Amino acid sequence: MNKDERIELANLLFPNIKKTRQDYENMYKARNINEDQMITRYGPSPTGSVHLGNLFSAFCDMIYARQSKGSFYLRIEDTDQKRKVDGGIENITSVLKEFNIVPTEGYDYGGEYGPYQQSMRTEIYQTYVKDLIINNLAYPCFMSEEEQNQIKEEQAILKTKIGIYGVYAVDRDLSLEEIKEKLANNEEYVIRLKSPGDAKNQIEVMDCIKGKLKFPEHDMDTVLLKKDGTPTYHLAHVIDDHLMHTTHVIRGDEWISSLPLHVQLFEIFGFDKPHYAHIAPITIKDSETNTIRKISKRKDPWASAKYYIEQGIPIDAVHLYLATIANTNFEEWYLANPDKKIEDFTFTFEKQAIGGTSFDEAKLNNLCKTYFSRKTGEEVYEETLIYTAKFDLEYHKLLEENKQDMIKFLNIEKDGPRPRKDIAKYSDVKEEFSYAIDTLFERENYSKYEKENIYDVDLILEYVNTLDLDVTNEEWFQSVKDFASCHGYASSPKEYKQNPDLYKGHVGDICEAIRVMITGRMKSPDLFSIMKILGKEKILNRINLYKKYIEK
Ligand code: GLU
Repeated sequence: MNKDERIELANLLFPNIKKTRQDYENMYKARNINEDQMITRYGPSPTGSVHLGNLFSAFCDMIYARQSKGSFYLRIEDTDQKRKVDGGIENITSVLKEFNIVPTEGYDYGGEYGPYQQSMRTEIYQTYVKDLIINNLAYPCFMSEEEQNQIKEEQAILKTKIGIYGVYAVDRDLSLEEIKEKLANNEEYVIRLKSPGDAKNQIEVMDCIKGKLKFPEHDMDTVLLKKDGTPTYHLAHVIDDHLMHTTHVIRGDEWISSLPLHVQLFEIFGFDKPHYAHIAPITIKDSETNTIRKISKRKDPWASAKYYIEQGIPIDAVHLYLATIANTNFEEWYLANPDKKIEDFTFTFEKQAIGGTSFDEAKLNNLCKTYFSRKTGEEVYEETLIYTAKFDLEYHKLLEENKQDMIKFLNIEKDGPRPRKDIAKYSDVKEEFSYAIDTLFERENYSKYEKENIYDVDLILEYVNTLDLDVTNEEWFQSVKDFASCHGYASSPKEYKQNPDLYKGHVGDICEAIRVMITGRMKSPDLFSIMKILGKEKILNRINLYKKYIEK
C-alpha cells in the first residue's frame, strides 16, 4: 500500500476521528517542572478490591512525587470492560482517601491533563493509531479466534514463540482492496502493531530499581485496538504517560516482560521515554507449601486494604510499614529518629528492594504498638471514637459516656522513658481496657473467671478495708508489703524463694489477686493507677462481685 492508500484506509477505519495527533500534542502542554521534579501516576484498574500491593505501589508514587515537589496523579485504567466490577472506581478512590494516599491531581482530583479515566479517552487513542496506519506501523487484522488457536497449536508443536509475528502475521500485507472487501462483509477486526522489531537484536533498558535490563527486541504484532475500538493497556498507558508527561513509571514488576513492547511503542510514536521503576511484589512464605509466593487476598486476610480499616490498624502505622518495605534503610533511620516523620526521610530507588519483600506481620504489629505508645491518652481516645463510630456502635456509646475515666486509663504509664506498648489497633482498646467501663467489665469479665477459687477473697477484702488511695505509688506498695507480712506472706518474691515453707505466698500473689478481681486480667498497666481511677467503692464492688461469682 502506498501512502495515499494508507490515508484512505485510515479514513475508512476511523471516519469519526477528525483531530490529528498534533492537536493533542498542542492540548497537553509540557509541564513547567525542573529536572528533579517527578511526575508519577497510580494507574489502577477497577477490577476488584484494593490490596496491599496496590497500596504499596500508590504509596511509592506518592512519596517520590512529594519529596521532589512534583505531582502524583490518579489515572483510572478501565479499558478492560470485561474485568470491570461495579463500584470498582469508587472503591479505589475511597480506599486511597481512607489510607491518606492523596494524589495531587487526577481522577476525582482534577488537573490539566484529563480526562484521567481511560474509557473517556478512546478518541485520543484512535487518533494516534490512525496516524500509525498512515505511517505503515499498524494494520487491521481480521483473523478469527479459530485461526489464532490453530497458529498457537502449530507453534506449540514446532516449539516456537507463541504469537502473531513474521509468517504468522497473515493480514500484515493485505491490499486496500482486500481490506475493503472484508469491511464490506462486516468482518470483525482488531488493529495490530506492525512491529518493526527483530528478536535477533538486543535492547537495553535502565530500570531505576532493577538496573540494566536486557531483552530481545519486540517483534510481535501486538493488538493495539480491540474489536470494539477500545485500546489495550499497552497502547493506552504509553499515550497517556506521554500526554500527561509522566517522568517516572513506578509499577509492579509483573510488567517487565512487556517492557520491550512499551519501549517500542514509545519509539515508533516518537515520544520521549519515561524512567521506569519496577517495584518488587510483596511476598509471603506459604505455611502450607513452605514456598514463597505473592500475597493473595483470598489466602491472606491482611492482604486486603479493607482489613486494615476494619481491624482499626492506624493508617500512620501502615504508612510506616510501607516506608520500611519501600526503602531498606528506612527502619534504621526511623529507630534513630523517633521524632521525625516519614516526610523527613529521603527515599531513593537505589534502596528499594530488587526482589520480593516478605510481609512481616510482627514488624507491622510492632510499628502499630510504637505508634500508640507515642500518642497521648486523649489522642488514643479520640481516634478510637472515630473507629468505633463505624465498627462498634455499642462500645462507641460507652466510650462517650465514660470519657473522663477512659482518658485517665489510657494515660496510665505514658510518661516514662518506655511508654506502654499494649495496643496495636483500635479494636484492641476494648479488650485491653475491658476493666475501664463497669458495664463491659461486669458483662465480659466475670464469665472468664475460673470457678475454682485460687485466691483468698476475704483476705483481699480485708486488705481493701485498709486501703488508702491518697498516697504515692511507693507508699502504697509499702502498705501492701506490710499487709502481706502481717498475714503470712513474704514481702518479696526473693524472700519467699529462700524459705517457701515459711509463707503462704508473697506480696506479688496478693497483687495478682487484686488485679484479677478488679481488672479480670493477669496482666494490666500499673495496678495502683487503675485502683486510683476506679476508687474504693468500685474496687469493693468488683471484689464482692467476684466473690459472689466464685461462690455460686
Ligand atoms: N492498570 C495497571 C494495573 O492495574 C497498571 C499498571 C501501571 O501502573 O502501568 O495493573
